[in-house]
Amino acid sequence: MAKKKAVLSIDGEIQINYKWSVGKAGDRFFTELRDHKKIMGTKCRQCGRILVPPRIFCEECFVEDMEWVEVEPRGSLLTFGESYFSTDGKRLKEPWMLGIVRLKGSNGGLIHFIRESRPEDLKIGMPVEAVFKSKPEGNIMDILYFRPANN
Ligand SMILES: [Zn+2]
Repeated sequence: MAKKKAVLSIDGEIQINYKWSVGKAGDRFFTELRDHKKIMGTKCRQCGRILVPPRIFCEECFVEDMEWVEVEPRGSLLTFGESYFSTDGKRLKEPWMLGIVRLKGSNGGLIHFIRESRPEDLKIGMPVEAVFKSKPEGNIMDILYFRPANN
């Protein structure tokens, strides 16, 4: 077997700034979150599913027959896990606990931070509630995190 030669490389970083439209559904979702601390979903008038995050069409019925509905800022934990790396790939001193939360009565789920709980106390299906930022800005971090709830 031939000896492998190390590839010559140079470490570096590329900073990329970008901006993209949040779209029609995202615009309403983030505006309501920022201005009223409301979590909105879209309900399909055909099948009745409530989609959170909201979409302007139902991919089950293949129609754009949707109406906006407010959902409760609480739901259940679908799954969770720890991350030892930040979104830019850097090792974290304290791991992030992340989960997918299905808000009450809705379909889908929001990926978010889970806090105010020890990892060993988290359970799939447990009730959780949103903790909102005091001065919202119109992005998903207007929900600071979800925490265990009694409901
Ligand atoms: Zn539908």
